[in-house]
Amino acid sequence: MSTITDNINKLRDQIRSAAATYQRSADSIKILAVSKTHPASAIAQAHEAGLFDIGENYLQEALEKQAQLTRLPLTWHFLGPVQSNKTKAIAENFTWVHTVDRLKVAQRLSAQRPTHLPPLNICVQVNISQEATKSGCAIDELTELASAIQNLDNVTLRGLMIIPQPSTDFTEQRAAFRQTNLLMQELNQQLGLQLDTLSMGMSNDLEAAIAEGATCIRIGTAIFGQRN
Ligand SMILES: *Cc1c(COP(=O)(O)O)cnc(C)c1O
Repeated sequence: MSTITDNINKLRDQIRSAAATYQRSADSIKILAVSKTHPASAIAQAHEAGLFDIGENYLQEALEKQAQLTRLPLTWHFLGPVQSNKTKAIAENFTWVHTVDRLKVAQRLSAQRPTHLPPLNICVQVNISQEATKSGCAIDELTELASAIQNLDNVTLRGLMIIPQPSTDFTEQRAAFRQTNLLMQELNQQLGLQLDTLSMGMSNDLEAAIAEGATCIRIGTAIFGQRN
């Protein structure tokens, strides 16, 4: 068995166990395989082990791997900072964008999404730990941004995404995830939305994220090994 297959099997056990502990269905937690810096062959192995959702951070690198893997029925998620001059290629080549944090980017993605494709799924990235240097929408600007995105034609607002300040403390990890879950519920109530996606949890904090309702965990290292 390849290391990647082995890693994915262990990850699935970990998810099943966390889901059982927190009384959730393991099927409600999607694994997004985050493959930045790893080759197309590693993605093919993850697919062989049953994963379909692939996350990439850098546009050029992602397009090269996509070109090598057109034979596989993969769903591509963009996870990097979105620069305005990259929105067209992102709108054309991805199914999801998890890192929208300002209206201008959402407007461009909507305008540039090819009309023969379904609307682009997007998550608003929230700067949950309120770090000055981090990307992400400020918490007090979230309602206005979500409301404006909701009115765009060719994108569908699906939920929220966070990259919290790293912590090794389980209680602290849970606090950021819980707050994000509450923010999504508030948006659904205030704006009458049906957001259903909480993109949160990475290799080191996936259990805390599952405890607080993550529906999409973004896993790199625990699947593909350390990045250089
Ligand atoms: C790299 C990355 C991940 C995966 O992180 P690991 O700790 O390797 O699991 C998840 N989300 C984003 C946005 C990333 O850039």
